[in-house]
Amino acid sequence: MALTWRDVRDRLVRALVQANRHDLDTEEKAYAFAEEHLDFSLTHTFGGHSACVEFETRASAEADRYFVCDMGSGARAFGEHVLARQSGRPATVNVFMSHVHWDHIMGFPFFGPAYHTPFHIRIFGCHDSLEHAFRLQQAPPCFPVPFSHLTARIEFVHLAPGETREIDGVVVTAQKQLHSGDSYGYRFDADQRSFVYTTDSEHKLEDRVDTENFVAFFRHADLVVFDAMYSLADSISVKADWGHSSNVVGVEMCQQARARRLALYHHEPANDDQAIARILRETRRLEELTREGHPIEVLAAYDGLEIEL
Ligand SMILES: [Zn+2]
Ligand SMILES: [Zn+2]
Repeated sequence: MALTWRDVRDRLVRALVQANRHDLDTEEKAYAFAEEHLDFSLTHTFGGHSACVEFETRASAEADRYFVCDMGSGARAFGEHVLARQSGRPATVNVFMSHVHWDHIMGFPFFGPAYHTPFHIRIFGCHDSLEHAFRLQQAPPCFPVPFSHLTARIEFVHLAPGETREIDGVVVTAQKQLHSGDSYGYRFDADQRSFVYTTDSEHKLEDRVDTENFVAFFRHADLVVFDAMYSLADSISVKADWGHSSNVVGVEMCQQARARRLALYHHEPANDDQAIARILRETRRLEELTREGHPIEVLAAYDGLEIEL
C-alpha cells in the first residue's frame, strides 16, 4: 500500500520525538541522524509500485546493456535512471515479462527510453499475446500516445519455456507457472551467480511434481524473488486458486533448493508497512525454526532495495 498523507504525518511526528534534544540545526546533521538513529520504519517504505526489478551483471553497465523484469509502475523510475546514466548514449534494454496482467505492463507508457530514438528495447516473453497487450493498453480510449508513436526501436522476442538461451552475456531460462492466463518465472545465470524472478505463481504443495520442478529451478540460487502475496492460511483456503503464493511456501522451496536469499515480493496491496514488517519478522522466525543447517537470508522487497550477489 502506498503511503498516505496520514502515514507521512505520523512518521514525521515519531521522528520529531526521536530527534528531540539532538542538536540538528543543519541538513547534514539531520541526514546523519536519520541514517544512524531513525528506525527503518521511519526512513523506508515497502512501497506503492507494482512489479519492476532491474538486475546488472559485471559487464552490463559499461556495455550499455540493461536487464529488467516486468514493466509495472516502477518502470517510470527505472526509465529515469537509464536516461540519466546514458545521458544521450544509445543502449539496449532487455525486458523479461512474467505475463501481461495490467499491474505488470502499466509502467511501459511512462518508460522514458521508449520515447528516445537511440534506445533498443527488447521485450522477451512466452505469451503469444505479448505484443498485443502492450499495444492495447496504449490504444484509445486508454492512453493518449499510441504505441506506434514510440520512437525507440522496440522488438518483441518470443521465448520457449524450459529452453535456455544466452542474452547479452546472461543465460536465461523461463519456467511456466500456475496463474490465470499462465505466467513465467525466469532464472538468470551470469558471473557465477544465479537470480530467480518468480512472481504471480501459485504452488500447490500437495503437487509433488510442481514442487520438484520449482525446487530444481531455484537450485542454489543466490537470490529468489518470490511471490509472497498471501499468508499460508489464505493461500490454502479463501484465496486458493487466486494465482499467488505465500511466504511459508517460499521458505520451504528455498530450503529444499538450498537458495541463499529469499526476497518476499508482490506484497498484498491491502497490507501497510507495519503488516509487511510483521510478515517479514514471522518469515525470518519460521526460517530459523525449520532450518536444517542451511541458513537463508530473508528480505522483504521495497522500492529502491539493492542487493549485491
Ligand atoms: Zn497476475
Ligand atoms: Zn501481479
